[in-house]
Amino acid sequence: MRKIIVVTERQAAFQAKVAGIKNFDEAFEMVKSAVFDKFKMHRAGLSLILQVMPTNLGAYHILGSNVIVMNSYVLAAIRKLSGSEGEYNAYLFMVLAHEYLHSLGITDENRVRQMTFELCKDALGDDHSSTRMAKEDPSSLFPQLRTMVQTQFGREFHVVKDFDKSSQSYIQ
Ligand SMILES: [Zn+2]
Repeated sequence: MRKIIVVTERQAAFQAKVAGIKNFDEAFEMVKSAVFDKFKMHRAGLSLILQVMPTNLGAYHILGSNVIVMNSYVLAAIRKLSGSEGEYNAYLFMVLAHEYLHSLGITDENRVRQMTFELCKDALGDDHSSTRMAKEDPSSLFPQLRTMVQTQFGREFHVVKDFDKSSQSYIQ
């Protein structure tokens, strides 16, 4: 049976933008604009750090800090497993949205998950990979993640250059 997927023109335009994301900074700009449109919340001056972490952890935000740490092991795995840049970008958008909401002071995990889901659903539609990953978790799209065993935290931290650069110009 054929499934009919309905997206609005606004969602289709946003889907195309997410599909075309070229780097972390672009992904984050889209997250910030989507969060502002939906929740009227904004903050500036965040840094992104990449670290190898256990597979069950996508990213984390240290409460009260300006740092988001993303699991570079999971990122590399999803880049490899995803059939397209589109799915990798969908993951990037969803994870950054989740951590950005935490950085806005929302500590409750269930609330952040619900808000991330609503945000993705609203901006990208029910059937988009970001929305599906926000509803469940990335392993719903990439079941292979469940069998990957990576239990250690790496000792190296890589700071992503030029992240959140649009707000850096405000700070100077
Ligand atoms: Zn969380």
